[in-house]
Amino acid sequence: MQTLLLWLFYISSFYAFIPGLITRIFGFRVFRRGSGEHEYALTFDDGPDAHYTPLLLDLLKRYDAKATFFVVGSHAEQNPELVKRMHDEGHLIGIHNYVHKSNWLMRPATVSKQIMKTDKIIHSITGERTSYYRPPWGIVNLFDLKKRGGKFKIVLWSAMFGDWRERIGADRLTERILNKLQPGEVLLLHDCGTTAGANPDAPQQMLIALERVLEEAQSRGLKSIRVDEMIKAKENAPEKKLPRSKLAVVKLWLIWETIFHKAFRLKTVNPHDPLLHYRLRKYSGDTIELDNGELLRKGDKVVELHFDNERLFRFGIRSRSTVHLAIQMIRSMEKELPTLAHQMMENPATRKAKALYGVTMVNRGPQQFGFQIVDLKDGLFARSTRLYLKFLLSVVHPSGQSRLKEHAQLLIPKMLLMPISVLMERYAENGSHRHHQEMKRTRSDQPETADNGDLALTAAQGLESSTPAI
Ligand SMILES: [Zn+2]
Repeated sequence: MQTLLLWLFYISSFYAFIPGLITRIFGFRVFRRGSGEHEYALTFDDGPDAHYTPLLLDLLKRYDAKATFFVVGSHAEQNPELVKRMHDEGHLIGIHNYVHKSNWLMRPATVSKQIMKTDKIIHSITGERTSYYRPPWGIVNLFDLKKRGGKFKIVLWSAMFGDWRERIGADRLTERILNKLQPGEVLLLHDCGTTAGANPDAPQQMLIALERVLEEAQSRGLKSIRVDEMIKAKENAPEKKLPRSKLAVVKLWLIWETIFHKAFRLKTVNPHDPLLHYRLRKYSGDTIELDNGELLRKGDKVVELHFDNERLFRFGIRSRSTVHLAIQMIRSMEKELPTLAHQMMENPATRKAKALYGVTMVNRGPQQFGFQIVDLKDGLFARSTRLYLKFLLSVVHPSGQSRLKEHAQLLIPKMLLMPISVLMERYAENGSHRHHQEMKRTRSDQPETADNGDLALTAAQGLESSTPAI
């Protein structure tokens, strides 16, 4: 029984797993959907286009619809008068990189440059800076965004329709959009067909379909508003985000944590503001070679880490977005690890431990702090983890189980390890300032899908035509 409890606890504990799950369950993340009774949001990517964007602006004007344009910097540069017109006619302008390239194919510094360059172009035309960003194909990377998170709001969408293909035709496109025409929806369309994978004249079909949609929206009393207004409205909406059933699950969860802490006598790094808990235990897995060359064998002492779920839950509730959440967590970790290193050094028992140990669903983030990530054997632990997740998701969301099946590969628990020598070197005494430099990410040969479950999942969901938030 004790082992079972431990298993359950591990998987609900370390690093971004809980916030990841919470963001999925409660919808805290990059903005993709608003609320409201009569408002939806039209968003247009990839433009401006010299031919189609003026037609689109005319159409929007006729229906008094406000939209958000995520412009490609180089296109904006070529068509400044169109950017000016968007601005003058009350639309919101956001950034869609300088060239239409996926962030997976660019170094974080390059992405930064693309965004800054585009921001500058928009500013030079409209006199205003933008703080809205939509990455091409909705592919975002947690650590890319760490630096920008405070500055830019990441906007994805709740529905897209394949309008970049001409052969979809206006009729089918109309039908698809009308299916999604609901308050709160963020609809993704394209006013330029010259980007890779699109057809140059696809916007023609889009414009025909959009006119019919605007007509229908008008008759239903629905109005397209800018994404910034939708975000504002959502933030000001009364607290109705957490239905009672979900709150009950969270409460049980937190009670569960308290019991666990008592039962296993966890120490808290900073009792006044708990973030990390830990305990000394014996390692019981297979022999693993640590980053410093030492071997971790069965019976060796490790310090097992647990994140404070209540704290994470509070983070989740207060965060404006997943990015904001990640930043808070990273900052807290940066503050907490030196304290942990210090405490461990002072305590003769923990000083002899060989490594820090934890379990996570997040596969790269923790490396920034000096952790190494090791696969868990696909045994009972991994299987029960997935079972638990299934249970949890099915409790909190009716379609949770099917979502989980689709993204199961992103939710694989892994082991985190850091040799104590590395902890001391990086975080004890004067070592604490050194890791900041190492935090600057270097490109890795790993595909970035494995980056972090949460954002990868967001991206994967974003690529589907429309997915309910879990
Ligand atoms: Zn695009």
